[in-house]
Amino acid sequence: MQEVFFTDARAKVVDPDLWYQPHLSLVSKLEKLIDESNILDFISKGDIVALKTHFGERGTTKTLRSVFIRKIAEKIKEKGGRVFVTETTGLGLTRDRCTALGRLLIAEENGYTSQTVNAPIIIADGMLGFDFVEVEVDGKHLKKVYVAKTIAEVDAVVCATHFKLHMQAGVGGSIKNVGVGCVAKPSKFDLHCRSYPRINENCNECGKCVEICPTNAIVNFQIDESKCLKCTGCKEVCEENAIDIDWIEGREISERIVECAKGVFDVVGKENFAFINFMIDVTPHCDCHPYSDLPVISDVGVFASRDMISVDKSCLDVLARASLNQESLLAHNRFWEWTDPFAQIEYGEELGLGSSKYRIIEK
Ligand code: SF4
Ligand code: SF4
Repeated sequence: MQEVFFTDARAKVVDPDLWYQPHLSLVSKLEKLIDESNILDFISKGDIVALKTHFGERGTTKTLRSVFIRKIAEKIKEKGGRVFVTETTGLGLTRDRCTALGRLLIAEENGYTSQTVNAPIIIADGMLGFDFVEVEVDGKHLKKVYVAKTIAEVDAVVCATHFKLHMQAGVGGSIKNVGVGCVAKPSKFDLHCRSYPRINENCNECGKCVEICPTNAIVNFQIDESKCLKCTGCKEVCEENAIDIDWIEGREISERIVECAKGVFDVVGKENFAFINFMIDVTPHCDCHPYSDLPVISDVGVFASRDMISVDKSCLDVLARASLNQESLLAHNRFWEWTDPFAQIEYGEELGLGSSKYRIIEK
């Protein structure tokens, strides 16, 4: 039975006549949660610690507030850790968040700077998302995982995760923060697709894909798979719909996310992780969307654990019991019905990444 520590987002005012009560701030409660749960005690003096979060897309307004990340960074420093805040590039090449440069610009726009989070910010998979360490996982779907190189080099990882829904994986919690957020571009492609991109008969030989391909993998309008790093840049610039990608849907995406998380654990060590899920502003879609719709439920609070599966399962169980906001997009697009939010939990437990059996300890 794993321990999941919890602090309530509600203020629970004891004395309504007393207006100035800073201990009721969720930042203060987060500090108490970390102090009393001891979940950062595994960090030793001098450890290099990645504080992994999601900076959102341009236009997103409900990502994790920087004050929470700043507080976690402060607590890591108190343990003697040398902390930096980190994120990886997105799949593709043309949008800003697909390069380290653009990712940092969007982070700044969304309020994450080294001043606001009080720690350096490093993009973990390099300028184009091709800095990685290959690890064999021999999974049901994936043979290799490409772990972001900076993540592979740290002593510890603390995941600060905005728990929200996700159009393909059902939910985005800590499992997704590790399985998607800690891997480089080739693995992000493998999460979504089974085979390499292919050029089809619509090609008019305009050469745009040849020009953008960062690895010179397109020769005579054919993709050389031995050179292709699966960035999808060619697909983005092709105006003739001449590049086929075999996109995956359903439960298999969740299972591939879990296999990627296993690859990250295999490199860094499962025992070197801590997880903090923020179940506030639970939007009906991921932070990679360029807008934020109404939350689907009222704010719940913060969950913290050393077990990745338990922390997500506890959030999912709360979500499954909650009454959903019918004003949010969730009520209209019904993706909840075609995704399988518990698949990550079930397959993650099967692969030994954690346990779905937990007890809540309220702080
Ligand atoms: S961008 Fe499209 S149409 Fe142009 S060469 Fe490449 S595959 Fe062909
Ligand atoms: S051929 Fe491969 S490496 Fe080149 S742009 Fe397309 S996906 Fe990227």
